[in-house]
Amino acid sequence: MSFQSLALDASLLKALAELNYLEPTPVQQQAIPEVLAGYDLMAGAQTGTGKTAAFALPILQGLLTRRDALAVEVSAGFEVEAESDDFYPAQKPTPQIKALVLTPTRELAQQVHASFVKYGEHTGLNCQLAYGGVSLTPQLKALKDGADVLVATPGRLLDLVFKKAINIRHLSYFVLDEADRMLDMGFNDEIQKIIRQLPKLRQTMLFSASFNDSVFKLAKSFMNQPKRIAV
Ligand code: AMP
Repeated sequence: MSFQSLALDASLLKALAELNYLEPTPVQQQAIPEVLAGYDLMAGAQTGTGKTAAFALPILQGLLTRRDALAVEVSAGFEVEAESDDFYPAQKPTPQIKALVLTPTRELAQQVHASFVKYGEHTGLNCQLAYGGVSLTPQLKALKDGADVLVATPGRLLDLVFKKAINIRHLSYFVLDEADRMLDMGFNDEIQKIIRQLPKLRQTMLFSASFNDSVFKLAKSFMNQPKRIAV
């Protein structure tokens, strides 16, 4: 199987060729078509299997497709009229996030973000990173216009949401990476709080190196008839 046969956008294929990725790894071969088809996904995959691209590529592809669809709507004259400032004083809307990836640690957040930046290099999509233990200010600045993709650790993500620095109520994609480690590190409450902020209509992916009862229970609580894959 080739990346071309997965029907990815030319901008993504260009990045993959530059990275010298010749063909999709097994987890990518299984995951990418399911995510592109719109299914929720529960994937058993360790680090090193290519799991990051397994969710990053179909998310970038989906965001590109939505952007193109919006461009067509606008050019066809369907844009919504701006409301008059006389009656509705200008109020800056909270910046929107379109895809959110949660990771248990800062190091993993940095790696996953770097992967999105590499794969998305020729797409023009905006990928941001937020983790705790450092000053909020630069992250607030970077997020002031929202983001197509935000990779974050749970505590800092909640800070940003409760400060109304970002809005995750209209996102399209939600990924929980290394779910088993998230639970081992005691992030269950944070994850539940974040899920309560998400729209019902969204696509959800959960990646985990191992599946025990608590990971299944978590998955059941917020996924919609997920496809299951394992490598
Ligand atoms: P991950 O499991 O996502 O941490 O990826 C492990 C390593 O495999 C990373 O260094 C990736 O850059 C690399 N990788 C991911 N997918 C491919 C691919 N299809 N071909 C070659 N290398 C890949």
